[in-house]
Amino acid sequence: MKLNEDITLYGISSELLIALAVAATVYDNKGLALVFTLLKSRGCGQDFSPYLGNEADLCSRYLDKETQRKVKTELSSRLGADYGVVLERGHIHLKYQPKLRG
Ligand SMILES: [Zn+2]
Repeated sequence: MKLNEDITLYGISSELLIALAVAATVYDNKGLALVFTLLKSRGCGQDFSPYLGNEADLCSRYLDKETQRKVKTELSSRLGADYGVVLERGHIHLKYQPKLRG
């Protein structure tokens, strides 16, 4: 993973940082470069999200469909139930969304 100069990590949660580190490993293991956008001021495809600072879009535009599914499946498996990993057009949406436990 390489952080471009225009990436500002300020304002994102530690839980999302861990998820990005895991995502970087998954991408690296497949010989892929992780390119991501942090969602800090608005949600993905909407004006408001309750998860600001806990979401990122991982670029998948350059991956074929099978590789997208494999990356998504591996990320879901590694991150567990507290994270949402969803295939969307052109990206994999990653969200820290902790489950309530009794
Ligand atoms: Zn998204």
